[in-house]
Amino acid sequence: MKDIQSLESWSVVKNGGPIAIAGPCSAESEEQLMETCRQIKDSIDITMLRAGIWKPRTRPGSFEGIGEEGLKWFANVKKELNMPITTEVANAQHVELALKYGVDVLWIGARSTVNPFTIQEIADALKGVKDVPVMIKNPINPDVALWRGAIERIYGAGIRQIAGIHRGFSSFEKTKYRNIPMWKLAIALKTEIPNLPLICDPSHIGGTRDLILPVSQKAIDLDFDGLMIETHRDPDNAWSDASQQVTPARLAEILNEVKIKKSSTDAEEVNTKLDTLRSKIDRLDNELVDVLGQRMEVVNEIGDYKRDNNLTVFQAGRWIDIFQNRPEQAAKLGLSKNFMEQLFKLVHDESIRLQTAVVNTEKA
Ligand code: PEP
Ligand code: MN
Repeated sequence: MKDIQSLESWSVVKNGGPIAIAGPCSAESEEQLMETCRQIKDSIDITMLRAGIWKPRTRPGSFEGIGEEGLKWFANVKKELNMPITTEVANAQHVELALKYGVDVLWIGARSTVNPFTIQEIADALKGVKDVPVMIKNPINPDVALWRGAIERIYGAGIRQIAGIHRGFSSFEKTKYRNIPMWKLAIALKTEIPNLPLICDPSHIGGTRDLILPVSQKAIDLDFDGLMIETHRDPDNAWSDASQQVTPARLAEILNEVKIKKSSTDAEEVNTKLDTLRSKIDRLDNELVDVLGQRMEVVNEIGDYKRDNNLTVFQAGRWIDIFQNRPEQAAKLGLSKNFMEQLFKLVHDESIRLQTAVVNTEKA
């Protein structure tokens, strides 16, 4: 998928740097949609407006979206404010209608990404459609393969303007987030498809207004290419996702406060300093690998010795000792205890594997 294009190639993207997408969770009335979008446009320069027309709600009986009528309103907003628009599509009919009313960019929601039948239906509806970018949210469950699979299906339909949207992952466990970010999953996807633009949706990750800014900053620090932030003229009275929507004024504050960071620079002095620090890291990593090699040699020696003396490989007392001592020692140096515990667990697992492997080879 090396020919997935950058955001700059999208005709709706005018400037470089991270893009911003904002608008209400749902289109509720023509007036609410127009007024919200107008206030956003008057408050801050953003790339495109969002609004949900069909809403996948967890339980029946909640507001499930305004449907086709809302697309007419959104098309008016596009015309009147001269701004690109984006909405969620969840089946072939949605795709057809969204394109009919001039929606510039489509997105696929988290509850659709989990279902390959749904994604394939959307992909089939997109065959032969040119120049319509598609943004694909992560599935609600933490599964990078499922996310990638959805991207592959849309790519298979011939779409080359694709972006991922990271909106966090659902869990039974209650945390301060509505959907746990698990940033490493987004990073894993980016590692598999390095040219895939990634947009963060801090609204669905946070679930509350106060988390929008810190989550946005974290995404920008991780080199995300854009933010999608739910914005409503009267958030408290929104028909869906009231607690996470912000006013247009607050949106402007958030976007102005987020410190934009670049992934590279042309400044020679900065690059030289970075190179020096990186070669230091390279040297230390070499030493680390060397020391680990030496440790595993001793592990093998101990393995042989235990076998010769009829001793078990795993000796709980010794392990408990290592597991307590090392992190404590590391904590004194200011290293995270949790990190050291995980590291030593890995080292210990590998040591056990080596020692039992010797025994197995002998038996075989
Ligand atoms: C939304 O963006 O309003 C939405 C329904 O998001 P998600 O698919 O991430 O739940
Ligand atoms: Mn929402």
